[in-house]
Amino acid sequence: MNLAERDKKVIWHPYTQMKNPLPHIPIVRGEGVYVFDESGKKYIDAVSSWWVNIHGHAHPHIAEKVAEQLKTLEHVIFAGFTHESAVQLAERLLPLLPGKQEKVFYTDNGSTAVEVALKMCLQYWVNTTKQPRTKILAFKGAYHGDTFGAMSVSGRSIFTDPFASLLFDVEFIDLPNTKNIEQIKSRISYLSNEVACFIFEPMVLGTAGMVMYEAGHLDELIAACQKHGILTIADEVMTGFGRTGKLFSCEALQYSPDIFCLSKGITGGTMPLGVTTCNAKIFDAFLSDDKLKTLYHGHSYTANPVACAASLASLDILLSDETLPNIQRVSAKHEAFAEKIKGHPKLKDVRQTGTILAMEWETGGDTSYLNGLRNRLYNYFLEQGIILRPLGNIIYILPPYVISNDDLDYIYSTILTALEEI
Ligand SMILES: *Cc1c(COP(=O)(O)O)cnc(C)c1O
Repeated sequence: MNLAERDKKVIWHPYTQMKNPLPHIPIVRGEGVYVFDESGKKYIDAVSSWWVNIHGHAHPHIAEKVAEQLKTLEHVIFAGFTHESAVQLAERLLPLLPGKQEKVFYTDNGSTAVEVALKMCLQYWVNTTKQPRTKILAFKGAYHGDTFGAMSVSGRSIFTDPFASLLFDVEFIDLPNTKNIEQIKSRISYLSNEVACFIFEPMVLGTAGMVMYEAGHLDELIAACQKHGILTIADEVMTGFGRTGKLFSCEALQYSPDIFCLSKGITGGTMPLGVTTCNAKIFDAFLSDDKLKTLYHGHSYTANPVACAASLASLDILLSDETLPNIQRVSAKHEAFAEKIKGHPKLKDVRQTGTILAMEWETGGDTSYLNGLRNRLYNYFLEQGIILRPLGNIIYILPPYVISNDDLDYIYSTILTALEEI
């Protein structure tokens, strides 16, 4: 039996209808922006393997630091104990974040980073008032993860339908634009006494289809929240670590959120790690002689030293002299290509922020056509040696920053032929 056949016997894949799925391609090796399958065929990983491999695959610097850590300390319980890599990572990370972030809380993925952020906010109100606020504000269509709390604050969709009755109530607001911003602000002010917090993906809603909105509008919403004491959570799980052209997407804001959620790019795709950071306002609300005011949350692999070492190594690369120019180069290439294909009759919209480029295929409003189109596009690019995973009728490129101009041009020209042929 080959690997694909053995896989089929024992594995249940994520986000996959397991009845007659598209074949799962066995990957044996990764290098830079490429992964290689069993037959030696090379694929450009144009989606950074679900948005995590910001520096490409098998980066030697990360490998070296991880190996060192493995030989020194692979894991230790993080309650009652600490270790160099966790402390150093927090020391390096906090000053990079906008506003005054004071503390790091470690978990092991983006969803749990969000769960912790929500629990921090909800318990903040329990700890500080007699009538705790329990409502949460989130954007329609947002995505914050797959665990129950994270699902609850995500837009309702086919992903969440089977669990709909078990998800807690969330006040969903429209993405802001010039027309509706005042309306959203009055809604916030109307609900204000009940609202514990507002969670948002800053400027780019990833899973929604790389939907983009303006920093100025988010600023207005954060300001409105702050006016009413509503806590704010920036979910930078996808946008963090250079993806939008800035180190963090929130750098484009005047107002700073109370909490940041980070994961995905944090270790450059080497180890699972989640981080929730908060400012003093949140942290201080948990300081007490009353044990009930403790944040009772933790995971077995919290602050795993190998994951922290991978993250430190990934930060070295991110902050090195090469990476920012790469991010700027990819962003400029994307922008030029977006300009070139804007107005193409088969495209409903083309949008770009930093290293993210998205194109919305025209479907003439026919949703039954959608799934077929998505799979045809996915297969078309795979055949050409490019990993792109369309979100419905939206194709997006979110590559490792080291991708060469030649590889970018190859992806662009393949998109142009797809536009002709599909
Ligand atoms: C992917 C993602 C999450 C969830 O992270 P996981 O590690 O997949 O659990 C949360 N928020 C945003 C914005 C994401 O893109």
